[in-house]
Amino acid sequence: MGLKRLGVLGWPVDHSRSPAMQNAALAATGLDGAFVYERLAVSPDAFPETVAGLPAAGFAGVNVTIPHKEAALALATAVSADARAIGAANTLTFGPGEGAVRADNTDAPGLLDALGEPAPRTALVLGAGGSARAAAYALRAAGAAVAVWNRSPERAGALAADLGVAAVDGPVAAEVLVNCTSVGLHDPAATFKELPVNADDIGEYACVVDLVYRDGGTELLRQAERRGCRCVDGLEILVRQGARSFQIWTGRAAPLDVMRRAARTGFEPSELLPSPTGRRADRDDP
Ligand code: NDP
Repeated sequence: MGLKRLGVLGWPVDHSRSPAMQNAALAATGLDGAFVYERLAVSPDAFPETVAGLPAAGFAGVNVTIPHKEAALALATAVSADARAIGAANTLTFGPGEGAVRADNTDAPGLLDALGEPAPRTALVLGAGGSARAAAYALRAAGAAVAVWNRSPERAGALAADLGVAAVDGPVAAEVLVNCTSVGLHDPAATFKELPVNADDIGEYACVVDLVYRDGGTELLRQAERRGCRCVDGLEILVRQGARSFQIWTGRAAPLDVMRRAARTGFEPSELLPSPTGRRADRDDP
């Protein structure tokens, strides 16, 4: 049997660290002769047609990222209960049989994996977009009482009604704070102006999770760390959802440490080999 293709579909997708992380995992488990993981820039218009052609092009499965997570769910022929309830999928698996597409959502269990046991009893989720839906769903399914705040309150209300959690219009006490907004990505200095929590109060949350990841870290986690909170960053969340996808496609346990290293450096396994000059290949996106 030939090399099976995997990949990530997004628009844009240039800065995705999934190819580095998944190819490192394949190499570490000896599966790099069986699978290769690619980056595929696909516009929303082209998404359904592109996905329909992937099995014939040798793809066994793909991750999908912004803005395709809802569209991925819509074109699947089988959908996991998690993906159905969340309303979004980030993992597609093709076959068995022609035209079969299974949709899973590994963002939700990935968050719980990153938090570890025991699951929190209370959580405050900031945001009401796709990742907030996955986080609120996962935490509630794990038994937590979940409050959701969003800049646009009507979206928080809709999410709360859909998922059986509470919408709030300001910060509430909780064991875990999960930032599922994009605040902090482009302007870290604005973080505490745009989120409903103050740096001085952040220490009241035993654990702070920031889905946003950027070089140099985020201001939310910097302040949380300073105040002694347990911190989970966006790269760990990325690794954990990717580990779940890896297991779905290969049936093998994912090598978490290898994936963490690759996600943090952004380098593919071949790029980590010494070059003839002894220097590592240059890349735009670290
Ligand atoms: P969406 O576009 O679906 O949602 C964005 C959310 O951010 C909305 O709730 C929006 O509020 C809020 N928001 C945006 N700007 C502001 C602002 N200035 N002030 C307050 N709230 C704001 O995105 P996703 O849910 O898919 O992703 C959210 C973030 O999480 C992104 O930065 C993404 O990169 C990151 N992410 C990380 C993952 C990982 O693996 N680490 C996985 C998925 C996402 P409103 O409704 O009012 O517009």
